[in-house]
Amino acid sequence: MRCPQCEERDTRVIDSRDLDDGATIRRRRECAACATRFTTYERVEAARLIVVKRDGTRQEFDRDKLADGLAKALTRRPVRDDAAEQAADAIEADLRASGQSEIPSSRIGLAAMEQLRSIDQIAYIRFASVYQSFEDLEDLKREVDSLYEERGTKAPRKA
Ligand SMILES: [Zn+2]
Repeated sequence: MRCPQCEERDTRVIDSRDLDDGATIRRRRECAACATRFTTYERVEAARLIVVKRDGTRQEFDRDKLADGLAKALTRRPVRDDAAEQAADAIEADLRASGQSEIPSSRIGLAAMEQLRSIDQIAYIRFASVYQSFEDLEDLKREVDSLYEERGTKAPRKA
């Protein structure tokens, strides 16, 4: 860090303080050459997450877009208002914890399905039917059957 006055590189930290709950550190520095005091701010740069789509195109991970997609699937379902936001946060935290900077979009889709599956089964089916673009009704039926199996019940038969 150069002194803004004389461009000397040798500066001394005379005070450090946490701001924003520790997300930012403010430092008071003093130039070793001319004794000018100045302030620097240090903040964690969230690593960029890049989503690699099926066709190979890349775009920055958009948490809000993910939350919107989850919210759509959860529309008018009896869940907490912030269910979609929380699920998006959980997915983002998982992705960041993986330490990888490039994530295949399929992995995010699967993570979203996993989240929805534990929140609301109807929302899960809605999302899955769009995301996996079920080839036909058989796929959808298989998915529904697997949910019933998890609950230990059989799908009701149509009369
Ligand atoms: Zn200086």
